Amino acid sequence: YYDHIQKSERLKMTGQLAAAVAHEIRNPIAVVKGFLQLYREDPNIPESAKEHFQLMLLEMDQAESVIQDFLSLSKPHDEHASLVDLSEILKSVTDLLQSYGSINNIQFKVDQAEESFIYGSKVELKQLLVNIMKNSIEAMKKGGEIRISSRTEGDYAVVEIADEGVGMDQEEIKELGTPFYSLKSSGTGLGLMICYNILEKYGGSLQFKSEKGAGTTAILTFKKA
Ligand code: ADP
Ligand code: MG
Repeated sequence: YYDHIQKSERLKMTGQLAAAVAHEIRNPIAVVKGFLQLYREDPNIPESAKEHFQLMLLEMDQAESVIQDFLSLSKPHDEHASLVDLSEILKSVTDLLQSYGSINNIQFKVDQAEESFIYGSKVELKQLLVNIMKNSIEAMKKGGEIRISSRTEGDYAVVEIADEGVGMDQEEIKELGTPFYSLKSSGTGLGLMICYNILEKYGGSLQFKSEKGAGTTAILTFKKA
């Protein structure tokens, strides 16, 4: 019992430390970005230098997203676990991503499933599904449809998210969840690692079926409450 307390205290401290470090890095980045933006608009600065400012700004943005993702990874887990209706979570996540989808010419099609309750934190479950759906959107440069369905299989609730994106081969699928693995120019490669971490806590799983050039289906399972 004593050991357990010490361990959770330590975890909490690590989380707080990570949050503090992230904060300390974020502020200087914001200051540097501010100046870079000023110089980029400055008429006295030659065009050739402005290109460099633009590049520096992009790199700063990249650093910011890594810190953002890292922060959500290091957050001590949310204590507010409760009975959660998965279909409600799916609805709110698709609502949240509606505009990100539509600027990319993507429609969501939700096969409205029956209620299915699991025990967990709404915040974490949303984070999990947002990460997966964002990947689907980002994989579909030409637009298309993302189908979301959920069903019950014995003691498990199963959610499928199917996109019509670039797809992955077997080698790529093997790398998923490895920290910093990303094939995107502005990806962090932390999204799926966060997903696997969350699912581990729920006794759930995440699998991918994919075909290069055709699309990807993410299959999530959760232990039912
Ligand atoms: P990021 O999105 O920052 O690159 P992720 O951990 O979310 O990091 O994803 C890692 C990599 O897995 C992506 O860069 C991409 O190459 C691949 N990937 C994930 N989901 C999909 C998908 N639905 N379709 C195609 N590739 C995907
Ligand atoms: Mg991602």
